[in-house]
Amino acid sequence: MMKARQKIIIVPIGELDFFQINKLAGKLSEAFTSAVDIVQGTEPAPEAYHPGRLQYFSTVILSKLERLRANNREKLLGIIDEDLYIPTKPFVYHESDPYAGCALLSCYRIKQEFYGLPEDDKLVFERVKKEAINQVGYLFLARYCRNPRCVMYRSTDMSDTDFKNDTFCDNCRRDMVRKPV
Ligand SMILES: [Zn+2]
Repeated sequence: MMKARQKIIIVPIGELDFFQINKLAGKLSEAFTSAVDIVQGTEPAPEAYHPGRLQYFSTVILSKLERLRANNREKLLGIIDEDLYIPTKPFVYHESDPYAGCALLSCYRIKQEFYGLPEDDKLVFERVKKEAINQVGYLFLARYCRNPRCVMYRSTDMSDTDFKNDTFCDNCRRDMVRKPV
C-alpha cells in the first residue's frame, strides 16, 4: 500500500512489554506494507507531568518525538503506558500531528484493569493494534473516517475500538494508495 522508502518508527516511552511492541511492529508493517523500526525506549519527559492531574501533557511529549525524526519519510509512533491529557480535555487516548509526522498513543485507558475488569492481554493487544493503525493512518490521511467498522473511525471509548475492524474501508484504502509520499 505504501511506497517502499516510507518508514514507520515505533518509540517506546517508559515501561512497556517489548514482546508486545515487537508484535505490534509486525502488524503495522503488514497494515501499511512498510518497513517498521523500533528505536530504543525513552523515559517520558518529566516536564510533561502534571502532579495535580497525575497525567502527562501529551503535546509536550509529542513535540519531543518530533525531534527524533530523521526525515519527512519517517512516521513516528510513540507508545506510552501513562495517562495523557491536553488542557481542554480530561484525558486523551492519543494525539497526532500529521504535519510533524508524529503520533502518540497511550495504553493506559486501553487496559481492562483501568475499568476494574480482569486483565485481558489478547483484547488489549487488539485494541492497541487498532489504535496504532488508526494513529499512523492519521499521519498519512490527516483525517478520520465516519464508517464505524473502519480502522480509521475515531473511537470515543473502547466499545468503539472493539467494534471496528483492524483494516481500512474501501474509501480509506483508496485514499491511502493515492496519497503522495
Ligand atoms: Zn474508512
